Amino acid sequence: MFKLKNEDNGGAGARTGVLSTKMGDIETPVFMPVGTAGAVKGVTEEVLNSIGASIILGNTYHLFLRPGMEVIKKAGSLHKFISWKKPILTDSGGFQIFSLQGNSKVEEKGVEFKSHLDGSKFFLTPESVVDIQNILDSDIQMVLDNFAPNPSSHKEDKFALDITTLWARRARERFLEVGKRENMQFGIIQGGLNEDMRSESLEKLTRIGFDGYAVGGLSVGESREDFLRIISHIVPAMDPQKPHYLMGSGTPEEILFAVEKGIDMFDCVMPTRNARNGSLFTWSGKVSIKNEKHKLDLSPLDKDCGCYTCKNFSRAYLRHLYISREINSSILNSIHNLRFYLDFMQKIRYSIDSDKFLEFRDKFLFKYNKGE
Ligand SMILES: [Zn+2]
Repeated sequence: MFKLKNEDNGGAGARTGVLSTKMGDIETPVFMPVGTAGAVKGVTEEVLNSIGASIILGNTYHLFLRPGMEVIKKAGSLHKFISWKKPILTDSGGFQIFSLQGNSKVEEKGVEFKSHLDGSKFFLTPESVVDIQNILDSDIQMVLDNFAPNPSSHKEDKFALDITTLWARRARERFLEVGKRENMQFGIIQGGLNEDMRSESLEKLTRIGFDGYAVGGLSVGESREDFLRIISHIVPAMDPQKPHYLMGSGTPEEILFAVEKGIDMFDCVMPTRNARNGSLFTWSGKVSIKNEKHKLDLSPLDKDCGCYTCKNFSRAYLRHLYISREINSSILNSIHNLRFYLDFMQKIRYSIDSDKFLEFRDKFLFKYNKGE
């Protein structure tokens, strides 16, 4: 169940809300750390709790291939298997399957693909993806969708849109037939970079009726202008009473933009992936920790951050760990980057509740872009 709390009265479409699940409440707008294969890289469940994560992501396709459903069934749920006592959203894996260039074949019934692990063949249907997510017992389940690779022709976009709509209807039927009532299922809006197709997709999904709606097929290499154009077009048209989820984005700038248009939920591998590459987010802009200038710098990474890493270690030490390829480099950097994202969302929520979202946005961007 989704309950809107506040809408920013400063002129933007930003809003706060509470998404209630059987595993707990989620304050929105929210950032969801990505734990594709049942693990958020570099951080334990204890750390995730301590930095304030309220929900994490898993990926149906990856979990289906490995460890497989037999052991999840035995454990009782994905939550129990990975010892995470809060909500989980599972992506269907459509995105991963269609990224297997030349190794997947779409037909009306479903999609045939070769495992990226050992090349063995599998066939997934919208119905079987619902069944797998029921075994995972994910609180928020994404339907199997199809998207055209970027750049795509009008015909490819239309095909992906039609398949996505057809599959969404069947997935919803299956979910209502066999799914657990306490879980939610979201539809995914496709249509590439065409505004008319995006509208058509949203309209058809709304007619089917989901618990929430996601914008898919963005952050796949399109230009910043196209990203902003599609978000500006589609998000204000989404049912305001339902949660709005932007899949796979983004940078702090993209998040601010999307929140302003009315997006409630985000996920992105960037905080953890960048952490492993020594690229760190701070309130004064991005920091490349391998940089020579940090060699003798005993100050914290970010004086405005209260995370374990910033409270206990210096830039010089973090640089040393990175240069020496110590495992602790990935761990400490991931703790910081995730905490930065979660704090960022918390500040966004506070600014909306105080009718000061636009003011917060401008102040944040000024400091973030100015750098140190
Ligand atoms: Zn920190």
